[in-house]
Amino acid sequence: MVNNMQLQQTLTIALSKGRIYKETVPLLAQAGIEPLDDPEKSRKLILDTNRPEVKIVILRASDVPTYVEYGAADVGVSGKDVLMEHGGDGVYEPLDLRIAQCKLMVAGAPDFASKSGRKRIATKFVNCARRYFEAKGEQVEIIKLYGSMELAPLVGLADGIVDLVDTGNTLRANGLEPLEHIADISSRLIVNKAAMKVKNAAIKTFVSHMEKAVARLHDKDKVSS
Ligand code: AMP
Repeated sequence: MVNNMQLQQTLTIALSKGRIYKETVPLLAQAGIEPLDDPEKSRKLILDTNRPEVKIVILRASDVPTYVEYGAADVGVSGKDVLMEHGGDGVYEPLDLRIAQCKLMVAGAPDFASKSGRKRIATKFVNCARRYFEAKGEQVEIIKLYGSMELAPLVGLADGIVDLVDTGNTLRANGLEPLEHIADISSRLIVNKAAMKVKNAAIKTFVSHMEKAVARLHDKDKVSS
């Protein structure tokens, strides 16, 4: 498993609660790292692990790139949607963890395309939405929301939304349809640029163990499906 000599440098891992945490823990376990607390049950924001030199900090998903960019965490797990919205240039992104997979899409009522004039689009992904419609040469008005995007077209706040779609059930339950594909999304391992140099041995070992863990998990999925 993990080479003790190589992981003696401290390593702080930034994770968000929920789907990313649940899907990252099995990968960390394969890399020999096990948190000693469960953030769903504990209010602790800094979790110790079975490895004294490795800590996990629990953050809001949208704050993970910021903590890693400024070096408050050495590495982190962040959705590609969050990185695209944040502008991921401040961190390295060495590994696609292939977890929390979904799509960033434009969605709306079935008559969305036939609407004339400048459309209003509600989203929390304002930068992604702006870039997408600009690249298409389509002028839209973007309205920033923080949640429940699906409600906006139902109450006349917007013509359409830009949101994450997994099964499509949330859209269907609200009479909306996935219409335009913007990007495939999955969680990425991100690394602080200075830590990559200063803690090169620890980070290289960690990334390589995570890479093997992703491959193993993926192979297992292939066998069981
Ligand atoms: P679904 O009904 O399965 O299409 O899921 C859509 C809802 O789950 C939307 O509210 C999305 O914002 C959210 N969602 C889906 N996939 C993800 C993901 N990978 N990360 C975060 N939120 C997601």
